[in-house]
Amino acid sequence: MNGSLARLAAAVLCALTTAVAAAEPGSSFHLSHGAGGARLRGQLHLHTTASDGNRDAAEVVRLYREAGYAFVGISDHNRRTPDPLVQGILCIPSSELSDRAADRSPLAGHHLTILGLATDPRDDGWDRDSLEAILRRARAEGALAFANHPRVAHPWPLEDLVGADGLAGLEVFNNREYQLLEDARAGAGMAYFRRQPAWQRALKAGRRLWGTATDDVHDYGDPRQWDRGWVEVHAGERSAEAILAALRSGDFYACRGVDGDAPRLDLAMEAARLAARADRPCRFRLVGPGGLLEELGPAEDASFGLDPEQSFVRVECEDAGDPSRITYSQPLWRGTE
Ligand SMILES: [Zn+2]
Repeated sequence: MNGSLARLAAAVLCALTTAVAAAEPGSSFHLSHGAGGARLRGQLHLHTTASDGNRDAAEVVRLYREAGYAFVGISDHNRRTPDPLVQGILCIPSSELSDRAADRSPLAGHHLTILGLATDPRDDGWDRDSLEAILRRARAEGALAFANHPRVAHPWPLEDLVGADGLAGLEVFNNREYQLLEDARAGAGMAYFRRQPAWQRALKAGRRLWGTATDDVHDYGDPRQWDRGWVEVHAGERSAEAILAALRSGDFYACRGVDGDAPRLDLAMEAARLAARADRPCRFRLVGPGGLLEELGPAEDASFGLDPEQSFVRVECEDAGDPSRITYSQPLWRGTE
């Protein structure tokens, strides 16, 4: 074999070995988060006077812009509220599909956010279709569907979360739900969102759902109702397409800041370990199908060895000085794209 052939053979062998190592089952977890770079803060669930909110769309969008948000989805009930075209913030056409009071639809109590709508659902009444048909239509429109407040007012049974084909994710924090629980009993909201029963059960059943955090605000005069739950998206540019692509691929974090800002979390795979870094001392929790696997900190970084027996892992990063401030990573699935 001459020199260049030998080099070629070595390169092919090396490439093959790398491919085999990456594909070996159980040897790797797929990280959907990009590293570093700009993050866009966004709100996916809010209401205006076009449905049951108490400020009009332009006022609402300006409020979020002043609070540092790069984008919002206006999710009025069963309608696509027109973009009020406020400078300096992006509006992604959106709606919260839910039962209509006078006309109970086959949604049967489920609420879902459809983000990136091409049409107004009222045009041909597709918000009154079955859950399956709505999810099909959302997909055909290039939109993303998220299950809303799976706990309190409008529960999502596990079989629907697991069986509904085309759900991109679910709310792992909904501030309205949190406040309702806290109002009923102090500490109840915190306790519920610490367990994450709906997300955990769906993930454990093998259903790949990204987690979002939202405000679901109706009353803008009550400061407890808004800028409490949001997403931070890694989008290469400020466009609806780039934001939707990042949300679709899980390149975003879900943040809860009931009292102040949530930690900025960065994750990276370093050899077979998962490295987590935050902008302040935090408690880092590694969670798998059976619940908590390991807790590290308080520290500004942590490194987790990953057990190849787990079907997924995810990270929660909680401000060491205030447990109401927390950032959730998306799940990392074992051995897959
Ligand atoms: Zn809502």
